[in-house]
Amino acid sequence: MSGSARNGVTANGSAITSVAANGSAISGAILEVRRLTKSFGKNMVLKDIGFSVRRGDVICVIGASGSGKSTLLRCINLLEIPTGGEIFMNGDDIMARGMSIPAYRARVGMVFQNFNLFANMTALKNCMVGCRRVLHYDKRTARQTAMSFLEKVGMAPYINARPRQLSGGQQQRVAIARALAMSPDILLFDEPTSALDPQMVGEVLAVMRKLADEGLTMIVVTHEMAFARDVSSHVIYMQDGVIWEEGPPQQIFQDPQRQETRDFLARFING
Ligand code: ADP
Ligand code: MG
Repeated sequence: MSGSARNGVTANGSAITSVAANGSAISGAILEVRRLTKSFGKNMVLKDIGFSVRRGDVICVIGASGSGKSTLLRCINLLEIPTGGEIFMNGDDIMARGMSIPAYRARVGMVFQNFNLFANMTALKNCMVGCRRVLHYDKRTARQTAMSFLEKVGMAPYINARPRQLSGGQQQRVAIARALAMSPDILLFDEPTSALDPQMVGEVLAVMRKLADEGLTMIVVTHEMAFARDVSSHVIYMQDGVIWEEGPPQQIFQDPQRQETRDFLARFING
């Protein structure tokens, strides 16, 4: 285990340079999750989760259905309110009173399995609306920003299309452009290719790979093990609401330290 801040080691394995007075190792980390718990009624679905993310990290989260992966991402962007623990974003406690949730969400983008585009808006409008309403860009700047990110994901020819006129892979690329247009500090992906027909998975993974190469900080929940192996800087294997094993992709995929990790990967690879 190397990603826990309690070990004094961050997710990409480098030592933390300084420690704040309250003991939280926030310097250098964009995001730090400490002793996070989440319960739904009596069902505790996240138990003592801790890790930190530094600029440029690509953290892949793997694990069986029901292990708590989506809940973890939803707690990080406050779509769910954690039951316990702390989350620091650039050193700010995001659950502190007075934190603006819309402003925080602009810094933590989210890409969902089912795209979640606004059905009644064109691709361009989908990418402009957050810039206008949350970042208060003027129309021209919002349009330029949206266009530049639609170009980046290869969707410039489709700016006037509505979601229903686009394939799943194209819709997901628009959703990624929409998230990027907010210039987030970190982008969360929750199984971004799971709802796609197989022939469309590659085009979305190619965009994500490009973003990783450009240094975007990302947390990616995925079942695409080749992507996790090749692109991530760090892999977290979740089971039953805990980080069961974590480490560099070479460890997780070639030399897993725990039997459960081995069993999961074997089940996964053998279908
Ligand atoms: P994963 O994304 O790894 O499949 P989830 O985070 O979606 O796992 O779910 C983890 C557990 O939390 C599951 O047992 C699920 O039923 C439960 N859960 C998730 N969201 C809710 C909710 N809103 N209300 C009650 N239980 C929930
Ligand atoms: Mg999920």
